[in-house]
Parts: sequence; structure tokens; C-alpha cells
Amino acid sequence: MSPRTLLALNWKMNKTPTEAQAWAQDLAAAYAPAEGVDLAVMAPAICLPALAANLPAGVSVGAQDVSAHAAGAYTGEISASMLVDVGARYAVVGHSERRDYQGETDAVVAAKAAQAQAHGLTPIVCVGEKLEVRERGEHVPFTLDQLRGSLRGVGPDVVVAYEPVWAIGTGKTATADDAEELAGAIRGLLSELYGDQASNLRVLYGGSVKPDNIASICAQPNVDGALVGGASLKVADVLGMNDAL
Ligand code: PEP
Repeated sequence: MSPRTLLALNWKMNKTPTEAQAWAQDLAAAYAPAEGVDLAVMAPAICLPALAANLPAGVSVGAQDVSAHAAGAYTGEISASMLVDVGARYAVVGHSERRDYQGETDAVVAAKAAQAQAHGLTPIVCVGEKLEVRERGEHVPFTLDQLRGSLRGVGPDVVVAYEPVWAIGTGKTATADDAEELAGAIRGLLSELYGDQASNLRVLYGGSVKPDNIASICAQPNVDGALVGGASLKVADVLGMNDAL
């Protein structure tokens, strides 16, 4: 049996807590769960309490990052236990923006994912190649190497998001076949790492997903949902994607 589809929203650094509250209330006024689809909102950590208090039942919240450490002298960091305390269920780790701008390595991403799991959060581990890697035809081995490093010491309660960097925020979406090529390869690696449990794990595609392309991408056999940035900010787009699934 295939896992439930996950529509995972990544607001990035957008919306204040006040705006998050209004967004959640607007969603609650119109949202009807789609059959077999889970919805989760990955918001700035400061918005999570407003979301947890106002989202409709069944919609989860998550963070966009989590500390690799449990507690202590790490000024500015937010721990997994703090996120759990405000209702988070997921934490995105290894988003390409953090790998690029904060220099996060696979080892750091793996430590964050393990820390999330240690406190009951499901990490959404992001991987994907830059354009030059794809142009060299090395996108499959590159992405699998990155994933292997990002899952070292990480257990099977994990979601993987394949996000080709050239498709994030650019309006250039991978074709459904491109998404399936990597999702299938990722599933193979998950089988190697986690055995039979791999078939229950969710592999998402991310990169310029919107209401008019989400259905064809998520219809691929190894694609179990989407991680969506730009089109996650407007409630109407989120409802459109939910309805399309
Ligand atoms: C993302 O931020 O993970 C993402 C996929 O962004 P966008 O949908 O805007 O390409």
C-alpha cells in the first residue's frame, strides 16, 4: 500500500505571527481534507504557536530547521524539544538555502535529523542537485551521495524531499519523469538503508510546484507528495493544490 500523500508547505522567511494567525483562520474557513492527503505547514518557528492554535484539525505544523544540539550554549538556536512544545510534528533539514547560505554539510544535516527524531519530530530531509551537476548528467549519483551522508545515523521515521536547486523559486519545474527518476532512485537507497520500511516512507518532490502541476508530479509511482515554497503563501493556492491531489 502506498503511503499517504504529504502536501508540505515551506513558507521560508515570510509572515509574522499575526499574519500566520489570519492565514490559518482563512484556511480553516475553507479547507476540506482531500482523501489520502496530509497537509503540513512549515513556518518560521515564531509563527508555530499561532498556527497550532488556529489551523483546522488534522493539519500539522513543522519547523524549517532545528538545532543539531539538545540544549545549552548555542545562542539563537531552537531545539527539537522547544519545537515539540509548541506543537511541531516535522522539521525540515538540509534545505538547499541553508546548505548554500549557512554552509550546512551533510554531516550537520544528519545530526539535525537525528536530533529531531530523538524528540519525536519527523525530519524532512532535503536533497537535490544544482544545474551544473544535472548538465553533467551526474544528478542521480550526486543526489544519492548527498542523501546517504544526510541520513548517516538517522532512523527510518523520515521524509525525503528531492528538490533540484535549479527548480526552487525559479518557475522551472522538473518534468514528472525527472521527479520520478530521482524519487525511484531515492526509494532504492531507502530500501538499502531501511529494508522493507522503505515502501512506507514518503518521498516528496519540490521545485516550483503549483496548483496546475502538482497532480501530474504526485501521480508518479514513487512521488508521495510535494514540498512547496512560493505557492504556499496564499490560502487559495494551497486549497487549489489540495483539491488537485
Ligand atoms: C522550497 O522552498 O522548498 C521550494 C520548493 O520552493 P518553490 O516551491 O518556491 O520552488
